[in-house]
Amino acid sequence: MALMSVADALQRVLADARALPREAVPLDDALGRVLTEDLVALRTQPPASVSAMDGYAVRASDVARTPVTLKVIGVVAAGHPFSGKVGPGEAARIFTGGVMPEGSDTVVVQELTIQDATNGVTIQKPTTLARNVRAEGIDFAQHAVLLRKGQRLTDRDLMLAAAMNHSRINVHRQPRVAVLGTGDELVPPGTTPGPGEIVYSNGFALAALARANGAEVHNLGIACDRVEDIAAAARRAREWGADILLTSGGASVGEHDLVQRALAAEGLELTFWRVALRPGRPMMHGRLGQMQVLGVPGNPVSAYVCAFLFLAPLIRKLAGRTDLEPRPHSARLGKDLPANDERADYLRATIQETANGPVATPLPAQDSSLMAPLAKADCLLIREPHAPPAAAGSECVIVKLGL
Ligand code: AMP
Ligand code: MG
Repeated sequence: MALMSVADALQRVLADARALPREAVPLDDALGRVLTEDLVALRTQPPASVSAMDGYAVRASDVARTPVTLKVIGVVAAGHPFSGKVGPGEAARIFTGGVMPEGSDTVVVQELTIQDATNGVTIQKPTTLARNVRAEGIDFAQHAVLLRKGQRLTDRDLMLAAAMNHSRINVHRQPRVAVLGTGDELVPPGTTPGPGEIVYSNGFALAALARANGAEVHNLGIACDRVEDIAAAARRAREWGADILLTSGGASVGEHDLVQRALAAEGLELTFWRVALRPGRPMMHGRLGQMQVLGVPGNPVSAYVCAFLFLAPLIRKLAGRTDLEPRPHSARLGKDLPANDERADYLRATIQETANGPVATPLPAQDSSLMAPLAKADCLLIREPHAPPAAAGSECVIVKLGL
């Protein structure tokens, strides 16, 4: 199969991905989730006119001319309404959030009053109608649609949904991503690697990236370079109900690169393999039953760049989001770059903010095995296939890293 452009590959990955079915979740679990239906206010807020200040609820006509002394006939606090009625010449002591008693129509702040020992309050300055009062429904009315289908919920949206009196809401189910590392040489971090062994590392970034984009992650661990091992892991992913199986390593054509072979035996329908991309050429995509399979190379930088470019948008689409791809930004090049070949290049670069806007400078070492520069990078600097040489100071396109 010929090399495919990044854009074509992404289109194929997303082609038959549909937002997952809905589930009802408690508000505490709804941050970042996407609503499957409009959300209607179940009540009016505030449900009655309430005081916005500590003071006295009075009749505006009584306090148009001051000083005037009124008779205090009751007390209203938040959650403790007063059942009496404020008549002419009367006032009710009121605190913020207290329901305006019948008959009252304005609040005099306590700073403008002097209360005496015999339930008299002297109002020292005039107060007009409806001052310091939050009118019933000023925030929202019952039946109003305040949050829309397709909206991704922010922290403030959760506050609003709670105020609308929803405890659970319907959102798209989270995509389930099973993450598998492959390689005889891999051992978990914190153990003592034997001769020729290295620490399994890329999966931690892949899982974190998946979670940050809204997925639920199942760590399948490390499979050896054996067809049966990899196939068994794929079966575990299916049993868990994965929407996406993400494998790393074993993705090229070496005799130890068995992922495609192992998954083919399980029924993999390959969509493509090999993308005009650096790092990440041997990336693979296919379907295995209900699962989409993304096979990314083992080298940590390649694995990460592929996950950043393909896994994250796929997760977002399944989660019902419409902002799928990383947002491109414009920057100035921090150093000269040579002409590019037929593969799109995603260079690890730092960003310096300057008076003339951001300057992106590729890190000196770009080998796809290097995790230290990847961790240091602020962005990926995109070089299109066959891009001509570019001089320092010229415009370039970056996508920012960082969760
Ligand atoms: P592969 O794609 O299996 O040919 O692996 C390419 C390179 O990446 C090899 O040097 C592997 O040792 C290394 N590698 C593979 N998987 C991982 C992993 N999960 N973490 C760190 N390095 C890995
Ligand atoms: Mg390998």
